[in-house]
Amino acid sequence: MNIRKLFSVRGVRIPDHKEMTKDLKVESLKAPKLLYFPMDMHIGKPAKPTVKVGDFVKIGTLLGESEGGVSTNIHSSVSGKVVSILKDESRGDLETVIIENDYRDDKVKLKDLDENITTEDFMKRLEEAGITGKGGAGFPAHIKYDMERNKSKYLVINGAECEPYSTADHRCMVGYANEIVKIIQLIDEIYEVDEAYIAVEEHMTESKDALNKALKENNAEHITLHELPAIYPQGHSGLQIHQILGLEIKEGQRSGDIGVLQSNVSTIKAIYDAVFNNESFHKRIITVTGPMIKNPKNLMVRIGTSVDHIVEACGGFHEGERMNISGGPMMGKSFDDIGLPVDKDTTTLLFLKKHPKEEERACIRCAKCVNCCPVSLQPILISNAYRNREYKMGIDLKSESCISCGICTYICPSRINLLEDIQKLNKELEGKEDE
Ligand code: SF4
Ligand code: SF4
Repeated sequence: MNIRKLFSVRGVRIPDHKEMTKDLKVESLKAPKLLYFPMDMHIGKPAKPTVKVGDFVKIGTLLGESEGGVSTNIHSSVSGKVVSILKDESRGDLETVIIENDYRDDKVKLKDLDENITTEDFMKRLEEAGITGKGGAGFPAHIKYDMERNKSKYLVINGAECEPYSTADHRCMVGYANEIVKIIQLIDEIYEVDEAYIAVEEHMTESKDALNKALKENNAEHITLHELPAIYPQGHSGLQIHQILGLEIKEGQRSGDIGVLQSNVSTIKAIYDAVFNNESFHKRIITVTGPMIKNPKNLMVRIGTSVDHIVEACGGFHEGERMNISGGPMMGKSFDDIGLPVDKDTTTLLFLKKHPKEEERACIRCAKCVNCCPVSLQPILISNAYRNREYKMGIDLKSESCISCGICTYICPSRINLLEDIQKLNKELEGKEDE
């Protein structure tokens, strides 16, 4: 018996709404006249602008240089002229470089790599190209791949896009299966991993077929396509590793600590472009979807494009009150200003109908939140701990292990926003640690 099969699947089945875009091919969106490049498209220190007003730039020109430590480079996604560098005092003088597009699409490429790519060459290339992971926080890929050097036994590529509505990764796998397989083969070789997996959702037939074909054509028998049930949140890194390898990431550990190197398929595609096409990270596939957008699409978008330009390309909005979300409905972030740009971490722009907020009712002790929590927490007890200011109780209940998947809030028949309470408690606990 395969020991890995013993691990139960944790999470819930929720309507995925992917039918709106899952069969739509990726269209290239024409870049707008003005593009915006905030210097904090990643976690850590913002990049430092390397251009000044009046400079001419090309696609791939460095606009912001990594400040060292956890930071990364930012490149232009169009050719044109730097027309402004804004400072936002409310965000610690964060600078945003604004480029006026000349529509010539002149390019500057990174240098060719040697034929025999070493680990050092590979990491340097990720750093030069400004690649960040798609794990939500925009962690610089070169740091992650450096930390996991010499100790990764397994490579897990995440193509299980479990958030409802999102289909960007699915279309990335359909359109770039060969590229994905080729770069996995290279990573396998230079990191000498023992086993490599691509995780996909079992019902996404088109991406599975594309990957199977690419694996065959590239003689990649050592890479396993691992099908996961369409259960939310199977895309979460820790749960996915548990499901595929039977390994548990303990509190305070990273996947690298248990010998697993993990990347998302979109990150892998950006790595392919950097290594084989000498391109900096300046464009990405996003899904534009939801009942409030007239023509949902999967689009290849230049980083720095404002949301309003994307909305216009999708036919505009339907009439009515709207909720804008960057990411999926479960873990995405709502935003009001559609003048904001798409950054390296944007996967989905979701436009939902705004419904009146349902009144919270008393807990009926149904235990649904407890039974559904994928990391076995007791959300209602943690929520009570927050509301009663019982911080020690919150710690004892392992509130900080919450992965913010939002299932507890989604499932609660009494409409109690359990996740909000848990997040507020964790923020207060963080503050207490700093005291
Ligand atoms: S407590 Fe956290 S991890 Fe558990 S269901 Fe709620 S949001 Fe998800
Ligand atoms: S799901 Fe809601 S009603 Fe049920 S136990 Fe949890 S908090 Fe109470």
